[in-house]
Amino acid sequence: MKEHILEMEKYAIENNVPIIEKKSIAFIMRYIKDHNVKSVLEIGSAIGYSAILMASSDKDVVVTTIERDETRYMECLKNVKKCGLEKKINVVYQDALELNLSEELRYDLIFIDAAKGQYTKFFEKYKNFLNPGGVIITDNLKFHGYVGESSKLDKGNLKSLVEKIEGYIAFLKNNEEFDTVFKDIGDGLSISTWKKDEK
Ligand code: SAH
Ligand code: MG
Repeated sequence: MKEHILEMEKYAIENNVPIIEKKSIAFIMRYIKDHNVKSVLEIGSAIGYSAILMASSDKDVVVTTIERDETRYMECLKNVKKCGLEKKINVVYQDALELNLSEELRYDLIFIDAAKGQYTKFFEKYKNFLNPGGVIITDNLKFHGYVGESSKLDKGNLKSLVEKIEGYIAFLKNNEEFDTVFKDIGDGLSISTWKKDEK
């Protein structure tokens, strides 16, 4: 297991796959244990690094993870197999904004780690699949230090992406259904707890 994780870290560097920072995944694994999380939905599998670590953080936890890129999806499946986690991780090959999950599905934790310009859309769509008291965690809210600095950037794709992340942060702060805390861990995490809290 350990060696597969190291192998994935190496693959990610060599192939420019933006896997989560170690401190951030360590925080999420801790969160899963401390909050008795049993089901996770991840948006953005890449090669399965974070899904595999989340699935191995507790013996009962199961993970569904969504990926739209075929090469990464295939690589993810391969890694899940290597780690012997096929029973705990369900990998879905589709665009998360097009996928129709069965209406009755519910998750304790939803991890948003896909296209940064779409965070608000992911949140609005998938909050309907949370268990009461569930949580939505989002990665990369600092976006390497650009977030909060969009006014200093020249017009272009980067500026508009940074503005979208800033918009998402404002959306979370103003959201009355969720309590959000922002953590300065790794590339920046938000933890948004649904206020409806009978579990
Ligand atoms: N969670 C992974 C890293 C994910 S990188 C880890 O830490 O190990 C972000 C991934 O999201 C990319 O592989 C990208 O292809 C995928 N992605 C982006 N937008 C998506 C969408 N709308 N639906 C599904 N996957 C998406
Ligand atoms: Mg990320």
